[in-house]
Amino acid sequence: MAEAGGRTLGEEELAALERVIRSGMLNSVWGSEARALEREVADLYGVRHAISASSGTAALHLAVVAAAPDPGDEIITTPITDFGTVAPILAQNAVPVFADVDPSDGNLDPEAVSRLIGPRTRAIMAVHLFGAPARIAELRALADEHGLALIEDCAQAWLAELPTGGYAGTAGDVGCLSLQQWKHITCGDGGLAITDDDELARRMRLFADKGWDRAAGRSHASFGLNYRMTELQAAVARAQLAKLPGVVAARRRTALMLLEALRGLGHLRLPRPDGHAWWLFPLVLPYGGAPELAGRLAAAGVPARAGYLDEPLNRAPVLRGPVYGGSRFPLEGYQPAPCPAAERLVEETLLVIQWNEHYTEDHVKAIAAEIRTGP
Ligand SMILES: *Cc1c(COP(=O)(O)O)cnc(C)c1O
Repeated sequence: MAEAGGRTLGEEELAALERVIRSGMLNSVWGSEARALEREVADLYGVRHAISASSGTAALHLAVVAAAPDPGDEIITTPITDFGTVAPILAQNAVPVFADVDPSDGNLDPEAVSRLIGPRTRAIMAVHLFGAPARIAELRALADEHGLALIEDCAQAWLAELPTGGYAGTAGDVGCLSLQQWKHITCGDGGLAITDDDELARRMRLFADKGWDRAAGRSHASFGLNYRMTELQAAVARAQLAKLPGVVAARRRTALMLLEALRGLGHLRLPRPDGHAWWLFPLVLPYGGAPELAGRLAAAGVPARAGYLDEPLNRAPVLRGPVYGGSRFPLEGYQPAPCPAAERLVEETLLVIQWNEHYTEDHVKAIAAEIRTGP
Protein backbone atom coordinates (compact mmCIF):
# COMPACT_ATOMS: atom_id res chain seq x y z
CA MET A 1 0.00 0.00 0.00
CA ALA A 2 1.23 3.48 -0.87
CA GLU A 3 3.09 5.29 1.84
CA ALA A 4 3.13 8.72 0.25
CA GLY A 5 5.50 10.93 2.19
CA GLY A 6 5.72 8.55 5.11
CA ARG A 7 2.02 8.11 5.83
CA THR A 8 0.92 4.81 7.38
CA LEU A 9 -2.26 4.03 5.47
CA GLY A 10 -3.45 0.54 4.62
CA GLU A 11 -6.12 -2.12 4.75
CA GLU A 12 -7.48 -0.85 8.07
CA GLU A 13 -8.40 2.54 6.58
CA LEU A 14 -9.91 0.88 3.49
CA ALA A 15 -12.05 -1.37 5.69
CA ALA A 16 -13.16 1.65 7.72
CA LEU A 17 -14.26 3.51 4.59
CA GLU A 18 -16.09 0.48 3.26
CA ARG A 19 -17.91 0.06 6.58
CA VAL A 20 -19.18 3.65 6.42
CA ILE A 21 -20.17 3.58 2.76
CA ARG A 22 -22.02 0.29 3.15
CA SER A 23 -23.88 1.75 6.14
CA GLY A 24 -25.30 4.45 3.87
CA MET A 25 -24.74 7.13 6.53
CA LEU A 26 -21.92 9.56 5.82
CA ASN A 27 -22.96 12.37 8.18
CA SER A 28 -21.85 12.36 11.79
CA VAL A 29 -25.07 13.85 13.16
CA TRP A 30 -26.79 10.50 12.54
CA GLY A 31 -23.81 8.17 12.25
CA SER A 32 -21.70 6.55 14.97
CA GLU A 33 -18.08 6.92 13.78
CA ALA A 34 -17.41 10.52 14.86
CA ARG A 35 -18.99 9.90 18.27
CA ALA A 36 -16.83 6.76 18.66
CA LEU A 37 -13.70 8.67 17.60
CA GLU A 38 -14.47 11.36 20.19
CA ARG A 39 -14.83 8.74 22.94
CA GLU A 40 -11.58 7.01 21.91
CA VAL A 41 -9.60 10.27 21.86
CA ALA A 42 -11.10 11.39 25.18
CA ASP A 43 -10.16 8.04 26.74
CA LEU A 44 -6.63 8.13 25.29
CA TYR A 45 -6.08 11.63 26.69
CA GLY A 46 -7.91 10.95 29.94
CA VAL A 47 -10.33 13.87 29.51
CA ARG A 48 -14.11 14.13 29.73
CA HIS A 49 -14.78 15.50 26.25
CA ALA A 50 -13.41 15.40 22.72
CA ILE A 51 -15.27 17.32 20.00
CA SER A 52 -14.53 16.38 16.41
CA ALA A 53 -14.25 19.07 13.74
CA SER A 54 -13.57 19.37 10.03
CA SER A 55 -9.95 20.55 10.51
CA GLY A 56 -7.39 21.48 13.13
CA THR A 57 -8.13 25.13 12.36
CA ALA A 58 -11.83 24.48 13.00
CA ALA A 59 -10.97 22.80 16.33
CA LEU A 60 -8.88 25.85 17.27
CA HIS A 61 -11.78 28.09 16.30
CA LEU A 62 -13.98 26.10 18.70
CA ALA A 63 -11.38 26.66 21.43
CA VAL A 64 -11.37 30.42 20.82
CA VAL A 65 -15.18 30.41 20.86
CA ALA A 66 -15.05 28.60 24.20
CA ALA A 67 -12.75 31.33 25.58
CA ALA A 68 -15.45 33.83 24.55
CA PRO A 69 -13.46 36.98 23.76
CA ASP A 70 -15.47 40.14 23.09
CA PRO A 71 -14.67 41.82 19.76
CA GLY A 72 -11.36 43.65 20.17
CA ASP A 73 -10.18 41.51 23.09
CA GLU A 74 -6.65 40.17 22.86
CA ILE A 75 -5.31 36.62 22.68
CA ILE A 76 -1.60 36.16 23.20
CA THR A 77 0.07 33.60 20.96
CA THR A 78 3.32 32.70 19.25
CA PRO A 79 4.67 34.12 15.97
CA ILE A 80 6.15 30.73 14.97
CA THR A 81 3.24 28.46 14.13
CA ASP A 82 0.85 27.46 11.38
CA PHE A 83 -1.61 30.24 10.46
CA GLY A 84 -4.36 27.89 11.68
CA THR A 85 -3.46 29.06 15.20
CA VAL A 86 -4.08 32.71 14.35
CA ALA A 87 -6.99 32.62 11.87
CA PRO A 88 -9.55 31.59 14.56
CA ILE A 89 -8.57 34.61 16.70
CA LEU A 90 -9.35 36.95 13.78
CA ALA A 91 -12.49 34.96 12.96
CA GLN A 92 -13.84 35.80 16.44
CA ASN A 93 -12.93 39.46 15.86
CA ALA A 94 -10.21 39.27 18.50
CA VAL A 95 -6.67 40.60 18.19
CA PRO A 96 -3.69 38.23 18.02
CA VAL A 97 -0.89 39.59 20.20
CA PHE A 98 2.44 37.93 19.42
CA ALA A 99 4.81 37.20 22.27
CA ASP A 100 8.43 36.35 21.58
CA VAL A 101 9.77 32.81 21.80
CA ASP A 102 12.53 30.88 23.50
CA PRO A 103 15.48 30.97 21.04
CA SER A 104 16.43 27.39 21.95
CA ASP A 105 13.23 25.75 20.65
CA GLY A 106 10.89 28.39 19.22
CA ASN A 107 8.21 27.77 21.85
CA LEU A 108 6.52 30.69 23.66
CA ASP A 109 8.66 32.44 26.28
CA PRO A 110 6.43 32.80 29.38
CA GLU A 111 8.33 35.97 30.40
CA ALA A 112 7.45 37.61 27.09
CA VAL A 113 3.83 36.48 27.46
CA SER A 114 3.66 37.94 30.95
CA ARG A 115 4.83 41.39 29.72
CA LEU A 116 1.96 41.52 27.19
CA ILE A 117 -0.93 40.69 29.52
CA GLY A 118 -3.23 43.70 29.76
CA PRO A 119 -6.83 44.66 30.54
CA ARG A 120 -8.13 43.23 27.24
CA THR A 121 -6.26 39.91 27.33
CA ARG A 122 -8.68 36.99 27.38
CA ALA A 123 -6.57 33.93 26.57
CA ILE A 124 -3.12 32.51 25.94
CA MET A 125 -2.74 30.16 22.97
CA ALA A 126 0.40 28.04 23.27
CA VAL A 127 1.73 25.82 20.49
CA HIS A 128 3.82 22.72 21.13
CA LEU A 129 6.06 23.51 18.19
CA PHE A 130 7.33 20.61 16.07
CA GLY A 131 6.18 18.26 18.88
CA ALA A 132 8.31 19.75 21.67
CA PRO A 133 6.31 20.46 24.83
CA ALA A 134 5.86 24.20 25.42
CA ARG A 135 6.51 25.63 28.91
CA ILE A 136 2.92 24.94 29.83
CA ALA A 137 3.22 24.90 33.65
CA GLU A 138 4.45 28.51 33.62
CA LEU A 139 1.78 29.53 31.12
CA ARG A 140 -0.89 27.78 33.21
CA ALA A 141 0.27 29.71 36.28
CA LEU A 142 0.13 33.01 34.34
CA ALA A 143 -3.35 32.20 33.02
CA ASP A 144 -4.60 31.35 36.51
CA GLU A 145 -3.05 34.45 38.05
CA HIS A 146 -4.77 36.73 35.50
CA GLY A 147 -8.03 34.81 34.99
CA LEU A 148 -7.27 33.89 31.36
CA ALA A 149 -8.14 30.82 29.32
CA LEU A 150 -5.23 28.63 28.24
CA ILE A 151 -5.53 26.94 24.85
CA GLU A 152 -2.98 24.34 23.75
CA ASP A 153 -2.42 23.87 20.02
CA CYS A 154 -1.23 20.25 19.81
CA ALA A 155 -1.58 19.92 16.04
CA GLN A 156 2.12 19.00 15.82
CA ALA A 157 2.27 17.25 19.15
CA TRP A 158 0.15 14.09 19.28
CA LEU A 159 1.15 12.24 22.48
CA ALA A 160 3.82 14.81 23.42
CA GLU A 161 4.36 14.52 27.17
CA LEU A 162 4.44 17.35 29.69
CA PRO A 163 7.19 17.41 32.34
CA THR A 164 4.44 17.48 34.98
CA GLY A 165 2.94 14.26 33.58
CA GLY A 166 0.08 13.81 31.15
CA TYR A 167 -0.10 14.56 27.46
CA ALA A 168 0.21 18.00 25.92
CA GLY A 169 -3.35 19.23 25.56
CA THR A 170 -4.50 18.23 29.03
CA ALA A 171 -3.09 21.20 30.99
CA GLY A 172 -5.01 23.89 29.11
CA ASP A 173 -8.71 24.62 29.30
CA VAL A 174 -8.90 23.27 25.74
CA GLY A 175 -6.36 21.29 23.70
CA CYS A 176 -6.56 21.03 19.90
CA LEU A 177 -5.40 18.25 17.59
CA SER A 178 -5.13 18.07 13.80
CA LEU A 179 -5.61 15.19 11.38
CA GLN A 180 -4.37 17.08 8.32
CA GLN A 181 -2.39 15.09 5.75
CA TRP A 182 1.08 15.76 7.19
CA LYS A 183 0.40 15.43 10.93
CA HIS A 184 1.32 12.28 12.92
CA ILE A 185 -1.95 10.64 11.87
CA THR A 186 -4.36 11.79 9.19
CA CYS A 187 -7.75 11.52 7.56
CA GLY A 188 -6.87 14.17 4.95
CA ASP A 189 -8.28 16.98 7.05
CA GLY A 190 -9.85 16.86 10.49
CA GLY A 191 -9.39 18.00 14.05
CA LEU A 192 -10.47 17.55 17.64
CA ALA A 193 -10.82 19.84 20.64
CA ILE A 194 -10.41 18.18 24.05
CA THR A 195 -11.49 19.53 27.42
CA ASP A 196 -12.46 18.48 30.92
CA ASP A 197 -14.96 21.33 31.22
CA ASP A 198 -18.61 20.44 30.54
CA GLU A 199 -19.66 24.03 29.79
CA LEU A 200 -16.80 24.67 27.34
CA ALA A 201 -17.60 21.35 25.66
CA ARG A 202 -21.24 22.35 25.31
CA ARG A 203 -20.33 25.71 23.72
CA MET A 204 -17.90 24.07 21.30
CA ARG A 205 -20.37 21.36 20.26
CA LEU A 206 -23.06 23.95 19.60
CA PHE A 207 -20.75 26.19 17.55
CA ALA A 208 -19.64 23.20 15.43
CA ASP A 209 -23.27 22.47 14.54
CA LYS A 210 -24.74 25.90 13.65
CA GLY A 211 -25.74 26.62 17.23
CA TRP A 212 -28.33 23.88 16.94
CA ASP A 213 -29.12 21.96 20.09
CA ARG A 214 -30.64 18.93 18.42
CA ALA A 215 -32.00 17.57 21.69
CA ALA A 216 -34.08 20.75 22.04
CA GLY A 217 -35.78 20.98 18.62
CA ARG A 218 -34.93 23.35 15.76
CA SER A 219 -34.16 26.55 17.60
CA HIS A 220 -30.92 28.52 17.23
CA ALA A 221 -29.92 30.00 20.55
CA SER A 222 -26.30 30.81 19.71
CA PHE A 223 -24.12 31.64 16.71
CA GLY A 224 -22.28 28.78 15.06
CA LEU A 225 -20.95 27.38 11.80
CA ASN A 226 -20.88 23.90 10.33
CA TYR A 227 -17.58 22.39 11.44
CA ARG A 228 -18.80 18.79 11.55
CA MET A 229 -16.42 15.96 10.71
CA THR A 230 -17.88 13.45 8.26
CA GLU A 231 -18.25 9.75 9.08
CA LEU A 232 -15.70 9.00 6.34
CA GLN A 233 -13.09 11.19 8.04
CA ALA A 234 -13.92 9.82 11.47
CA ALA A 235 -13.71 6.16 10.41
CA VAL A 236 -10.28 6.72 8.84
CA ALA A 237 -9.18 8.71 11.89
CA ARG A 238 -10.18 5.80 14.17
CA ALA A 239 -8.04 3.39 12.15
CA GLN A 240 -5.19 5.89 12.34
CA LEU A 241 -5.65 6.42 16.07
CA ALA A 242 -5.00 2.73 16.66
CA LYS A 243 -1.63 3.20 14.92
CA LEU A 244 -0.71 6.39 16.78
CA PRO A 245 1.31 4.88 19.65
CA GLY A 246 3.44 2.94 17.15
CA VAL A 247 3.85 6.01 14.93
CA VAL A 248 5.08 8.17 17.81
CA ALA A 249 7.32 5.42 19.22
CA ALA A 250 9.00 4.87 15.83
CA ARG A 251 9.59 8.61 15.37
CA ARG A 252 11.08 8.80 18.88
CA ARG A 253 13.38 5.85 18.29
CA THR A 254 15.01 7.29 15.17
CA ALA A 255 15.02 10.87 16.47
CA LEU A 256 17.02 9.69 19.50
CA MET A 257 19.48 7.99 17.11
CA LEU A 258 19.99 11.25 15.24
CA LEU A 259 20.45 13.13 18.51
CA GLU A 260 23.17 10.68 19.53
CA ALA A 261 24.85 10.91 16.12
CA LEU A 262 24.96 14.73 16.31
CA ARG A 263 26.29 15.10 19.85
CA GLY A 264 29.38 17.23 20.20
CA LEU A 265 28.88 19.43 17.13
CA GLY A 266 29.68 22.88 18.54
CA HIS A 267 27.73 24.89 15.98
CA LEU A 268 24.43 23.07 16.62
CA ARG A 269 21.95 23.28 19.47
CA LEU A 270 20.15 19.93 19.64
CA PRO A 271 16.48 19.64 20.62
CA ARG A 272 15.65 18.40 24.14
CA PRO A 273 14.11 14.94 23.70
CA ASP A 274 11.96 14.98 26.85
CA GLY A 275 8.34 14.36 25.91
CA HIS A 276 9.03 15.29 22.26
CA ALA A 277 6.65 13.83 19.67
CA TRP A 278 9.00 14.60 16.73
CA TRP A 279 6.60 15.98 14.16
CA LEU A 280 9.73 17.50 12.63
CA PHE A 281 13.34 17.27 13.80
CA PRO A 282 14.42 20.86 14.56
CA LEU A 283 17.99 22.11 14.87
CA VAL A 284 19.12 25.54 15.99
CA LEU A 285 22.37 27.06 14.71
CA PRO A 286 22.94 29.74 17.35
CA TYR A 287 25.56 31.53 15.21
CA GLY A 288 23.41 31.52 12.07
CA GLY A 289 23.85 29.72 8.76
CA ALA A 290 20.63 27.69 8.80
CA PRO A 291 19.64 28.69 5.24
CA GLU A 292 23.07 27.63 3.91
CA LEU A 293 23.00 24.29 5.76
CA ALA A 294 19.39 23.63 4.68
CA GLY A 295 20.36 24.32 1.08
CA ARG A 296 23.28 21.91 1.28
CA LEU A 297 21.15 19.20 2.93
CA ALA A 298 18.31 19.62 0.44
CA ALA A 299 20.79 19.35 -2.45
CA ALA A 300 21.97 16.05 -0.94
CA GLY A 301 18.37 14.77 -0.79
CA VAL A 302 17.72 15.37 2.92
CA PRO A 303 14.24 16.91 3.35
CA ALA A 304 15.43 19.93 5.32
CA ARG A 305 14.36 23.56 5.22
CA ALA A 306 15.34 26.72 7.02
CA GLY A 307 13.14 28.95 9.10
CA TYR A 308 9.89 26.96 8.84
CA LEU A 309 8.05 30.15 7.75
CA ASP A 310 8.91 32.92 5.26
CA GLU A 311 8.40 35.42 8.06
CA PRO A 312 7.27 35.12 11.68
CA LEU A 313 3.52 35.73 11.91
CA ASN A 314 3.89 39.07 13.72
CA ARG A 315 5.16 40.25 10.31
CA ALA A 316 2.58 38.40 8.17
CA PRO A 317 1.23 40.67 5.41
CA VAL A 318 -2.37 39.74 6.31
CA LEU A 319 -2.09 41.72 9.57
CA ARG A 320 -1.74 44.94 7.58
CA GLY A 321 -5.29 44.27 6.35
CA PRO A 322 -7.84 44.40 5.00
CA VAL A 323 -9.33 41.59 7.10
CA TYR A 324 -13.08 41.87 6.34
CA GLY A 325 -14.12 43.54 3.08
CA GLY A 326 -12.07 46.71 2.85
CA SER A 327 -11.84 47.00 6.62
CA ARG A 328 -8.91 46.27 8.86
CA PHE A 329 -11.26 45.51 11.78
CA PRO A 330 -10.45 44.18 14.38
CA LEU A 331 -6.87 45.37 13.80
CA GLU A 332 -7.33 49.16 13.37
CA GLY A 333 -4.45 50.99 15.01
CA TYR A 334 -2.79 47.69 15.78
CA GLN A 335 0.94 47.35 15.30
CA PRO A 336 2.41 43.96 16.30
CA ALA A 337 5.45 44.34 18.56
CA PRO A 338 8.78 43.05 17.23
CA CYS A 339 9.73 39.52 18.28
CA PRO A 340 13.51 39.53 17.84
CA ALA A 341 14.10 35.92 18.93
CA ALA A 342 11.42 34.62 16.54
CA GLU A 343 12.75 36.79 13.72
CA ARG A 344 16.29 35.51 14.18
CA LEU A 345 15.11 31.88 14.27
CA VAL A 346 13.15 32.27 11.04
CA GLU A 347 15.87 34.22 9.21
CA GLU A 348 19.13 32.73 10.46
CA THR A 349 19.14 29.98 13.04
CA LEU A 350 16.28 27.47 12.68
CA LEU A 351 16.46 24.40 10.49
CA VAL A 352 13.81 21.67 10.36
CA ILE A 353 14.20 18.18 8.97
CA GLN A 354 11.02 16.37 7.94
CA TRP A 355 10.48 13.29 10.04
CA ASN A 356 8.29 10.22 9.81
CA GLU A 357 7.78 6.78 11.29
CA HIS A 358 9.34 4.95 8.33
CA TYR A 359 12.84 6.33 8.84
CA THR A 360 15.45 3.62 9.36
CA GLU A 361 18.86 3.62 10.99
CA ASP A 362 20.31 4.01 7.47
CA HIS A 363 18.28 7.18 6.87
CA VAL A 364 19.52 8.56 10.19
CA LYS A 365 23.14 7.72 9.38
CA ALA A 366 22.87 9.41 5.98
CA ILE A 367 21.33 12.55 7.49
CA ALA A 368 23.93 12.69 10.28
CA ALA A 369 26.81 12.20 7.84
CA GLU A 370 25.53 15.03 5.66
CA ILE A 371 25.18 17.40 8.62
CA ARG A 372 28.62 16.45 9.93
CA THR A 373 30.45 17.17 6.66
CA GLY A 374 29.60 20.85 6.66
CA PRO A 375 30.83 23.87 8.55
C1 LIG B 1 -1.49 22.03 11.07
C2 LIG B 1 -1.57 23.04 12.15
C3 LIG B 1 -2.73 23.77 12.41
C4 LIG B 1 -3.93 23.74 11.53
O1 LIG B 1 -4.45 22.49 11.37
P1 LIG B 1 -5.27 22.14 10.03
O2 LIG B 1 -5.79 20.77 10.34
O3 LIG B 1 -4.30 22.18 8.91
O4 LIG B 1 -6.36 23.14 9.91
C5 LIG B 1 -2.73 24.63 13.47
N1 LIG B 1 -1.67 24.78 14.26
C6 LIG B 1 -0.53 24.11 14.04
C7 LIG B 1 0.61 24.30 14.98
C8 LIG B 1 -0.44 23.22 12.97
O5 LIG B 1 0.72 22.57 12.75
